[in-house]
Amino acid sequence: MQKAQKEAAAWRDPAIGFAHAAMESLLTQRMLPTPENYRIWYLYHARTHAALRADIEARLAAGEALDEAAMAALHARHLAEPPPAEAPRAEAPRAEALGEVASQLELSLGAAIQLLEGAEAGATRYGTRLADFSQALQGSPAKLGAALSRILADTEELCRQSRAVAQHLAERARETEALRAALAQANEAAMTDALTGLPNRRAFGLALAAALAEPGPLSVALLDIDHFKRINDSQGHPAGDAVLRGLAQCLSDWLRETDHAARIGGEEFAVLLPRVRAAEAAGLADQLRRAVAAERFLTADGRGRFSVSISVGVAEHVRGEAAESLMGRADAALYEAKRAGRDRVMQAAPATAAIRAA
Ligand code: GH3
Ligand code: MG
Ligand code: MG
Repeated sequence: MQKAQKEAAAWRDPAIGFAHAAMESLLTQRMLPTPENYRIWYLYHARTHAALRADIEARLAAGEALDEAAMAALHARHLAEPPPAEAPRAEAPRAEALGEVASQLELSLGAAIQLLEGAEAGATRYGTRLADFSQALQGSPAKLGAALSRILADTEELCRQSRAVAQHLAERARETEALRAALAQANEAAMTDALTGLPNRRAFGLALAAALAEPGPLSVALLDIDHFKRINDSQGHPAGDAVLRGLAQCLSDWLRETDHAARIGGEEFAVLLPRVRAAEAAGLADQLRRAVAAERFLTADGRGRFSVSISVGVAEHVRGEAAESLMGRADAALYEAKRAGRDRVMQAAPATAAIRAA
């Protein structure tokens, strides 16, 4: 039994258990918790779609990566519905899946609500008994004794019900909180580069779109390690990985609070510099370049040290320019820096009217 399935078994309410197992799978596979991905894993753990489950198991057994393309293929093969007459709104699938999570939570909260209603009925009954009791006080001692024992029994029953309701609600609150935390964790994992801990390309795209929506200047810097292939070849892949982690550390030390850095490719990093003009961005990037050049990395045998250099392309956003055009200009400047001999920073050519319109 897989870990996620064991956890599913541990939850009392199967729907909540499947939801947790689905979140666990999203986490271990480092996938975005999109409605489609969530649905696939939920159904996998709920074992409601045998063909879908068999397909996933075959892929896992073959050691195939369940990347975005594979998940899209699984969705298309097993879960796609016939296209509606009218084109659906872009947000519809997300709303649908959120509804699915909500209905699972509702299911489990429904039980708690039933208990509460039961407790309310008990409390009403108890009120009636109290009224009877106050009447009995004015009656004979025999009647009073009987009313007293009834009221004692009802008090005990009401206390027992209240405890059960409180326990049930606390349990549901814990389950809901665990699901919410798992969702946040899966989101975080899918936006983070596992090797360096920096945000990944996906996260950078979102940060760039958000920064472009803000007023004021914005510059981007694209960094690429020089001759990294040689480092891998001479020092080995693990030493190459250590260089990538070291560069990420240099970047983090150099960043100001308002900047965003990400690893957007193998040995390629990007930085967003809000409220910074191109000339200042180039100066800042040069400080980083010098800090990286001053760093000493351990050789594979652990006895020697070696240094690396980076090339950087910097571009400032021009009002109305598309994200692709801005990144394209920074990339062209990076290429120029490589061509001019590496270990340097180059500023992008200004956006022409033609580029701006792209
Ligand atoms: P240039 O100065 O022109 O950028 O040359 P380069 O050798 O850095 O560039 P090239 O694109 O030829 O090689 C990049 C290398 O980066 C090849 C690839 O194996 C390596 N690489 C990509 N991702 C990783 C990784 O995660 N770890 C390690 N160790 N190497 C990686
Ligand atoms: Mg490269
Ligand atoms: Mg390189």
